[in-house]
This record gives sequence, structure tokens and C-alpha cells, in this order.
Amino acid sequence: MNEPLKLMFIAAHPDDEALGMGFTLAKYAAEGVEVSLVCATRGERGWTGPAEDDPGLQALGRVREAELRASARVLGAKEIHLLDYIDGDLDQADPHEAALKIAALLRRVRPQVAVTFDPFGAYGHPDHIAISQFTASAVLLAARPDLLDGGLEPFVLPKLYYMVDSQPLVDMYSELMGETLSMEVRGERRLHTGWPVWAAGTRIDASAHWETGMQAIACHRSQVADFIDKLLEIPQRYGKGIWAVQTFYRVFSLVNGGSQPEDDLFAGLR
Ligand SMILES: [Zn+2]
Repeated sequence: MNEPLKLMFIAAHPDDEALGMGFTLAKYAAEGVEVSLVCATRGERGWTGPAEDDPGLQALGRVREAELRASARVLGAKEIHLLDYIDGDLDQADPHEAALKIAALLRRVRPQVAVTFDPFGAYGHPDHIAISQFTASAVLLAARPDLLDGGLEPFVLPKLYYMVDSQPLVDMYSELMGETLSMEVRGERRLHTGWPVWAAGTRIDASAHWETGMQAIACHRSQVADFIDKLLEIPQRYGKGIWAVQTFYRVFSLVNGGSQPEDDLFAGLR
């Protein structure tokens, strides 16, 4: 019997999975792919209400972990692994330790495909950039036979992808929200960074899973309550395809190549 297909998404915060690539995760789970979610933090600093009502790191972390678990159930994910870092502090984590944690999960789960943030962290979020870098390091460490940990065999990941937002999606989002997604870091405003359509060479049409993806987003009530109505307008205003045809950059593949666009994260593996 063939090994089951497995997809691992390695994220920084609860809601990254749903807002970032929920439609695609729902599609693959529905097709029988074993989806696992790795989340570095519990989103402890994601309070969106008045400062005086902030429940504190631990309490918000519990709320957001529950939201993540609900979203994962909706998406059909098989398992969730939390790395126990604190939201906002991830780029201060020891990179070797963080990479080893992810490497151990790669060895245990042995996915054929792993996906993480792009080097811009979508809009320059230091946690997103950190998890992208830790994942790249983890791929190296997982393959090193001298780093055997807990009896786990070395593992060579066949394919790694960055989840990327194409420029048309960034433009649509800015128009829909009336402002560009951004984050201020060390006095500089970092804007939502779009990839050229040609560079986002892997395009997964998950528009048939729109409702499931939106249900997963709605699970993250503490984060999306203020703008989910706008997201629900997308199909009428722009069509589902602009968001639910999700785009990825193939960082490396040991099983296929070439500049032809792909329409399947498992291309070369089936
Ligand atoms: Zn995030």
C-alpha cells in the first residue's frame, strides 16, 4: 500500500491556517490527505478590544487555542502541534531550539509536503518571518543523521512551499478593507507584500471549498469579528477565485521541477 499523502502547515499564530490557506487545507483534507498543523504560539498578543479589557496572555492564549482547534476540526486537519512560544516573541526564540522542535515533528509525521510563510511574512510580521526561517532550518536538521532524537529516523522532506499572496489578492484586500494590511516594526510601516502572478507558480483551485474555509475563519471569533462581514462580500464583489485559488512558491522539490505552473502541491508525488 502506498504511504498516505500528508501535508504539514507550519504557522506562527492561530488563524494563520484559516486566513492564510484554509480553502486549500480544506480541499486536501476532503481528498483524504492527512493535514497536520504546527502553530508556534497561541496568539497571546492578539487582543483586538479595548486595552483595559485585555484578558492577559494566558487567558487569551486559551481562547485562541480553542479557536484553532475548532478551525482545525472544520478544515478536517488530523492533528495540531503547538510549539509553546509566545506571540510577538517568536523572533527572539533560540533558532536552533525552534528548528529542532519542528525537525522532530517533520521526522514524526513525515509529510511529503510542508508549507510555511514567505520571507516577507505576508506583511512583515516578525513572527511570520521567524517561522519561515525556522522551518527552512528544520528541513536541514531533520535530514541530519547525527541529530537523531527520541529514536526518530532522519527525514528528507520532498517538497517545501511558501504560502504567498499574489499582487491581485493584495490589491483586492486593500480595496475591500479600505486600507492595506500593514504592521509597524521598529518605526517602519511594513505593507502587505504581493508576489508577481508569474512567480507564485503553484495555484491551487480550492474555490469548491469556500464555505468550509469561511467557516474555519469564523472560528477565530476573537480576531475576525470586526471584518468577517467584509470577507463574506468577496464572492459577489470579486468572485471566489481571487482568494480561493490560493498561490504558493515552490521553495524546493526533489520530485518535480521546471517553470510550468503547478496546480497541485503533490505534483510529482502521486
Ligand atoms: Zn499570524
